[in-house]
Amino acid sequence: MFKKLLVANRGEIAVRILRAAKEQGLSTVAVYSEEDAAALHVREADEAVCIGPAESQKSYLRVDGILEAAKKTKADAVHPGYGFLSENAKFAEACEKAKLTFVGPTSKMIDAMGDKVRSRETVAKNKVPTVPGTDGITDLKSAVQQVEKLQKARKDFVYPLLVKAAGGGGGKGMRIVRKPSELKENLERAQSESIKAFNNPMIFVERYIENPRHIEVQVLGDGKTTLHLYERECSLQRRHQKVVEEALSPSLDETTRKKILEAGVRAAESVGYKSAGTVEFIVSEQNDFFFLEMNTRIQVEHPVTEAITGIDLIEQQLNIAQGQKLKIRQSDIVTRGHAIEARLYAEDCDSNFLPQPGPLHFLRFPHWKGVRVDTGVVSPTKISSFYDPMIAKVIAWAPDRESCREKLKLFLGATEIEGLITNKAFLLEILGSKFFQKGRYHTHLLESADWRKTPKPSSKILAAFCLKDYLDNRIDFSATSRSAWQEAYDAVAN
Ligand code: ADP
Ligand code: ADP
Ligand code: MG
Repeated sequence: MFKKLLVANRGEIAVRILRAAKEQGLSTVAVYSEEDAAALHVREADEAVCIGPAESQKSYLRVDGILEAAKKTKADAVHPGYGFLSENAKFAEACEKAKLTFVGPTSKMIDAMGDKVRSRETVAKNKVPTVPGTDGITDLKSAVQQVEKLQKARKDFVYPLLVKAAGGGGGKGMRIVRKPSELKENLERAQSESIKAFNNPMIFVERYIENPRHIEVQVLGDGKTTLHLYERECSLQRRHQKVVEEALSPSLDETTRKKILEAGVRAAESVGYKSAGTVEFIVSEQNDFFFLEMNTRIQVEHPVTEAITGIDLIEQQLNIAQGQKLKIRQSDIVTRGHAIEARLYAEDCDSNFLPQPGPLHFLRFPHWKGVRVDTGVVSPTKISSFYDPMIAKVIAWAPDRESCREKLKLFLGATEIEGLITNKAFLLEILGSKFFQKGRYHTHLLESADWRKTPKPSSKILAAFCLKDYLDNRIDFSATSRSAWQEAYDAVAN
């Protein structure tokens, strides 16, 4: 039994885990970078240890630094959250060796699922449908031949294709290939990107599914029993990263749902999974579904599942890590109502979703029944340029989807944020759109411009207009002996 939990993460998920730990009567330790010295997660923990400078590589990604912090504070368990070291099998192994309980699956399970090529083979053995694709490719010399060979062997391995990094994550390292003449160049580029981003030269090629939906199954296992907690629909993405998620999926028919849930459980069972995990699928326009990957950790969008099932996933993770068997049975897990999560980001949706770190002078959420806000910031503060620029996750619950959509829209509308450019208006546009109301959308919808009825000028252009209005009011350009620019400068400076 462990008594003191170190949370090896930052931001909203660190705050979320600390809360669950306190509810179980555990002592808590936070780790932080110099950049995060004043962060909420540091204040929320019983103890906190600085593990290095702002750069993740030198702090949150440093295995030795985190183990040292655990030793120093006599922590006997580690929760990795998501991102950072959460899916790093070597980190889990180092914890195991240091006799620290890793709140998650074993290092072997992470390893088996960590590589997209190997995980596909593992789950396929347990009758989980996978996207037709090649084995792992490291040597590019034979790559084109491998693709051509598979095309002869499998009728369903057809263009367009997608080159992916075997060790990829966070939506990075993927290239679409529309015709054979583009294959060689894309293989080369994908490999060099994969080496740069993931320090891993292995790539693979799979069929590119047009306009798919991303549907994932939440699973919970104790090493013996595997349960599913239904699915989440996460098809609203930008740059392969999720923006709005919901549970249950509005686009699944009952027959496909049943099949996907069973396949999700089988995928987890193929490694005798322990802890909370997510099995990701893409679903084609014809309702065929294929395994994408398994995330062997808690997921950003886990609160929508908690909202409809009433089950606290971090509490379950902690119980399983304490060696307990699951106390719930599949038949106990019933869903109630509908939940939608929106990820509030400091980013400019009119300029390619460029991150907009900077001072956050004011942030205030309303307090409403049925709306949960998970955040790691309290204003005034600064959204750091060193990490993911997420401000908060807002999760609404209501008895039915339409009132849930309406509630989240009203809540976001009543949320006050001052100081930086955010995606709030973009989220409101999504929640108010026809396609979202209908519940029919796919992973490329947000990237196609035509769903936005009135394209807005970019935030930069709007800012320039505001400045011009301001200057027009302040300065009489006709009656000046000095340069207009000098005068404009003085006006703004004063
Ligand atoms: P989720 O479905 O929970 O959003 P993601 O795979 O998108 O899962 O990852 C969760 C978080 O971790 C995101 O902030 C993502 O940017 C980050 N992340 C995941 N894997 C990597 C990776 N290999 N490199 C960099 N960031 C990653
Ligand atoms: P990551 O580890 O970066 O999350 P995934 O394999 O889960 O990588 O893919 C991320 C997203 O990319 C998916 O949600 C989906 O939108 C898109 N994608 C991945 N593979 C395919 C495919 N074969 N066809 C079409 N879209 C895909
Ligand atoms: Mg994924």
